[in-house]
Amino acid sequence: MALIVHKYGGTSMGSTDRIKNVAARVAKWHDAGHQIVVVPSAMSGETNRLIGLAKEIMPQPDPRELDMIASTGEQVSVGLLAMALLAIGKDAVSYTGWQAGIRTDSSFTKARIQSIDDTRVRNDLNQGKIVIITGFQGMDEDGNISTLGRGGSDTSAVAIAAALKADECLIYTDVDGVYTTDPRVVHEARRLSKITFEEMLELASLGSKVLQTRSVEFAGNYQVPTRVLSSLTDPLMPLDEEAKSGTLISFEEESNMEQAVISGIAFHRDEAKITILGVPDKPGVAFHILGPIADANVEVDMIIQNQSVDGKTDFTFTVSRNDYAKAMSVLEAQRESLGAAKVLGDAKVSKVSAVGVGMRSHVGVASQMFRTLSEEGINIMMISTSEIKISVLIDEKYMELAVRALHKAFNLEQA
Ligand code: ADP
Ligand code: ASP
Ligand code: MG
Repeated sequence: MALIVHKYGGTSMGSTDRIKNVAARVAKWHDAGHQIVVVPSAMSGETNRLIGLAKEIMPQPDPRELDMIASTGEQVSVGLLAMALLAIGKDAVSYTGWQAGIRTDSSFTKARIQSIDDTRVRNDLNQGKIVIITGFQGMDEDGNISTLGRGGSDTSAVAIAAALKADECLIYTDVDGVYTTDPRVVHEARRLSKITFEEMLELASLGSKVLQTRSVEFAGNYQVPTRVLSSLTDPLMPLDEEAKSGTLISFEEESNMEQAVISGIAFHRDEAKITILGVPDKPGVAFHILGPIADANVEVDMIIQNQSVDGKTDFTFTVSRNDYAKAMSVLEAQRESLGAAKVLGDAKVSKVSAVGVGMRSHVGVASQMFRTLSEEGINIMMISTSEIKISVLIDEKYMELAVRALHKAFNLEQA
């Protein structure tokens, strides 16, 4: 007998028929003698609908109240799934995040899980029940409902698996695993049967939304065996076959020399770039520009400071497009005190990244990336690198072209 956490995303829970399929799949695992905790997302489109309603009333919604509203999508899902299981004779019980003991900090709309008290869930499991817990949410120490950021049900599932010391966390979604890039953008993308934890962390944080970044961090910190697989297969397919399908996140360092240099291409469409022209080049310049940006709770990604000319320099950085207006108004307000000539912005830029642990032992990856983009006539605005990734910022209108060209240049296509 194993303890297994299943997570089902929005598409997987997208209709009552799909929910009945989820129930059949969960029942199959339970009938095989396993203890099962299920973490569903809201039905597809529901979280967007709820956030839309909030914005009709308040264009910049109050974060606490937004979480109150956005968290309800998952509450519907868990109730429906519990009923679907009860209807086929399985003993199931549903809980909200707070009923299941999930404590978070108070950063509404992007809260972090701090602890999980699993007493109630363990009792139910020991009585043979299937336990269903809302994804995406918890409660802060003052009893306020909080949500974990978009895509946060992945994180709920892996965190619950870590707290329960589950044998495995299975993330069921609308694709059958992690691909070399988003299969919706590049049809020739190839499914990986295994990916290293480090690569998955980079891919997720660089824009591959198949897993929320924090879920990968939890998987790494607590060594939770995690697999991404399809919920759209026959729910009654043989369990052994299902258990081996999809993509396993592996914690072993690949010693295989045949390992591809690049494992995947990630992209983030919604970036924005801000340039401050003609700031005096003196100690503290970066701090004086980026300090107020950080105070406004805006995360900065890539940064470049130019050579100074006549004691003046230009400073460029990127933020997520959602934060663009906020960052621009902060800097406009600071322009005079910074002594800057001008603040320029471009909200039509995207980031494309190549990721692979093989980069550590291979030279020439960056130059191949730059050559490929130049052959397509794509201008690179900014570059950033780490040991296992190279990212470039480009005009958003070339993003898909760049992803396809790089996917091909690094031989990631289906054999
Ligand atoms: P869920 O609702 O199940 O959480 P998401 O829509 O959040 O599903 O994530 C699954 C989607 O992630 C896929 O439909 C796919 O378009 C996208 N995706 C992006 N990059 C990748 C990748 N490298 N491999 C697989 N899917 C990817
Ligand atoms: N329902 C939430 C969202 O749409 C959480 C999730 O799907 O993981 O972002
Ligand atoms: Mg998701």
